[in-house]
Amino acid sequence: MSFYIDPHIHMISRVTDDYETLAKMGCVAVSEPAFWAGYDRGSVDGFRDYFRQLTDFEPKRASWYRIQHFTWMCINAKEAENVSLSREVIAMIPEFLDRPGVLGIGEIGLNKNTRNESIVFQEHIDLAMKTNEQILIHTPHLEDKYQGTRMILNMLCDDRRIDHNRVLVDHVEEHTIRPVLEAGFWAGMTLYPVSKCTPQRAVDMVEMYGPERLLVNSAGDWGPSKPTAVPDFILQMRLRGHPESLIRKVVYDNPLEFFSGSRNFNFTPPENEGLGIGDWGPGVGRRQV
Ligand SMILES: [Zn+2]
Repeated sequence: MSFYIDPHIHMISRVTDDYETLAKMGCVAVSEPAFWAGYDRGSVDGFRDYFRQLTDFEPKRASWYRIQHFTWMCINAKEAENVSLSREVIAMIPEFLDRPGVLGIGEIGLNKNTRNESIVFQEHIDLAMKTNEQILIHTPHLEDKYQGTRMILNMLCDDRRIDHNRVLVDHVEEHTIRPVLEAGFWAGMTLYPVSKCTPQRAVDMVEMYGPERLLVNSAGDWGPSKPTAVPDFILQMRLRGHPESLIRKVVYDNPLEFFSGSRNFNFTPPENEGLGIGDWGPGVGRRQV
């Protein structure tokens, strides 16, 4: 079995059977950014309970299938129009930043590219800088993506405090990936069945830009999405004849390298890693049948 990590998936929206399926397909770790519940939460206590679920119950549920669970804290851009509630949530987040498995602030970003969204985005950045956290960024849906990504990159590049190597900009597509990588950020490609990227287009982008600082994720959530999309990408890479070492870099080594910048990232590699038992062992890709 080849191991992989899904660096962006909303497991609280998924059933336990999905954990079992992911484990069978070789998933050894997931990272779950805080996101929109499908409705606006009414109070800071609603967020506190959500963060407890992300840091307490969800890692337990993942561990039943030997999947390691990591998470990120924020209030989503969709709720940023309520600036006063956003500020209460941002002030409460530090309660959770030293909990095991909390990797940083995310997924913050823009949704409709409004002024309030920009204000709340920058206040999250301030918190991340004060607390020395890594950052995971959501870029808007297709109709607002190009403009929103430009706005986000401008805000990040104007802030001298930010180490670009500690920021992942997610949901990149063909028209937004280049400036993200050129500015030295990590870039995430999201594989969705109906929007964002297909596995084939993600492979195209690996072929065009190389594997450095590139991640792939399913962003599985409560909407139309496929939690096993990363294995679809792995298969597509194989069908195009790419070596296992290149596939492993994108789906395993890269997320490990990026997450390693977070102080609460304590990852235990799968037991047989490096022993040649799994498909990622020595000699993979050169095997003659
Ligand atoms: Zn998400």
